[in-house]
Amino acid sequence: MKNYQIETNCVQGTYKPKSGEPRVLPITQSTTYKYSNSDDVADLFDLKSDQHMYSRISNPTVSAFEDKINLLEGGVGALAASSGQAATTLAFLNICSAGDHIIAASTIYGGTFNLLKVSLKKLGIQVTFVEPDASYEEIVGECRDNTKALFGETIGNPGLNILDFDKFAKASKKMDVPFIVDNTLATPILCNPLDHGADIVIHSATKYIDGHATSVGGVIIDGGKFNWDNGKFPELVDPDESYHGVQYVKDFGEKAYITKARVQMLRDFGMTLSPFNAFLFHKGLETLHLRMGRHCENALKLAEFLENHKDVEWVSYPKLESHESYDMGNKYLPKGGGGILSFGLKGGAEAGKKLAEHLELVSLVVHLGDLRTSILHPASTTHRQLTEEEQIKSGVLPDLIRISVGIENIEDIIKDFENGIKEVV
Ligand SMILES: *Cc1c(COP(=O)(O)O)cnc(C)c1O
Repeated sequence: MKNYQIETNCVQGTYKPKSGEPRVLPITQSTTYKYSNSDDVADLFDLKSDQHMYSRISNPTVSAFEDKINLLEGGVGALAASSGQAATTLAFLNICSAGDHIIAASTIYGGTFNLLKVSLKKLGIQVTFVEPDASYEEIVGECRDNTKALFGETIGNPGLNILDFDKFAKASKKMDVPFIVDNTLATPILCNPLDHGADIVIHSATKYIDGHATSVGGVIIDGGKFNWDNGKFPELVDPDESYHGVQYVKDFGEKAYITKARVQMLRDFGMTLSPFNAFLFHKGLETLHLRMGRHCENALKLAEFLENHKDVEWVSYPKLESHESYDMGNKYLPKGGGGILSFGLKGGAEAGKKLAEHLELVSLVVHLGDLRTSILHPASTTHRQLTEEEQIKSGVLPDLIRISVGIENIEDIIKDFENGIKEVV
C-alpha cells in the first residue's frame, strides 16, 4: 500500500481479507495457536517462522494494528505495548542497561520525565536533560562514552514547542546513537519523524490513535536505518544466549531492533497489548486523518478567538504567529498544529482553576486526544505536588489552562468558552 496516500492507507492499509474472510479485522481473542507437529513449534522457538506462538509475544489482531501504524509512519516494523509508558520503557530498555546514559529534551511528557529521571535511574541508567533550544554543540557536548540514545517529542506538552528535528538528528548522527521521538501529539497524519532523521518513533495510542478515550496502549515503530553494529550496542550484535545464539543484526538485518524488542523484551517483561484494544486502535486509525484535520481546524479557530478576547492574558498554539515555534511548526507540521492549546486568563490562576466549573460542553478530564473537548488546570491538578518554581521550570505556569480541542462544532465550543469566561472574570 506504499503507493497510496496516507488517508487511503488509514482506511484500507494492510488488513487484506482473502475470499470468504471477514471484511472487518476480526478480534482474535486467543492466547494460543494450534500446530500439526512439533517441528513447526520448534521453528517458532528458533525464530525461523513468522507464525504466532503465544499472545504475549504476538497475536493476529495486534499484528494488524502494528502493521497499519508501521505503514502510516513509514517504518520497517512496529511493536505494540500495553500503554504509552510501556512502549517508552521497552524502547529504552531494548538498547540501554545499567551504566548507560540517555540525553533527552527537558520539555517532555511528565510521565516520561518521571520514567527517565526516577525509575530508569533506579535501574542504573543516567539521563541528562537538555533545553529544546540548546545549540547543536551543547547537545553533542553532553555525549559520553556510554550515551545510547537521544530523545525528544514532536510537540512538547504543555509548552507546545515543536522539536527542531534537523538539529537533533544531526546531533544524534554525530554521537552515533539512535534518535528516538515521541510522536503522540502530532500523530503520523501531521508529522512522520522518520522522514526528518528519527530512527525510532513512539506513540501513546491512548490519545489520538484511539481518539474515543476507550483504551490504553502504546506502540514503537522502527525506521530500520540505524547501524547498530557501531561498537555501542553489543546486545544487538553478539549472540543472544536466551535464543541459543541468535544475532539480531546478522539474522534480522534492518529489523534487528524491533525483533529484539519483541522476542526478548516483550517476552521477558510481558507488557502486552490486548487484542480488543488493538482492534479499537486499528479502528481509530481508520478515521485518524479525518479527526486530526478537524482537531487542527478547531484548535486554530479557538486559539484565534481566545487571542482576541479581552479577558485573556496569553494564548499558546504553534500555528499562531505569536508562538515561539511558529516557523518550526510551518516547517515540520505543514498540515496543522495539532489539537492542544493553552492559555491564561487575566484573572490568573484562580480564574483558570474555576473556569472548568463554568463550562457545559467542555469537560474536566486528565486526558487528551479525545474527540470531546476537554480542559485541565495542571498547576492545581496534575502538577500540584510540585513547588511553583518547579512548575514553572517544567513549563506549567500557575495560570496555564490546557485545552484538548475536540471535533464538535467550533461555534458551540467557542460559545461555551465565551459563557464560561464571563462567569470567572
Ligand atoms: C499520554 C502520553 C504518554 C504515556 O502514554 P500512556 O498510554 O498514558 O501510558 C507518553 N507520551 C505522551 C506525549 C503522552 O501524551
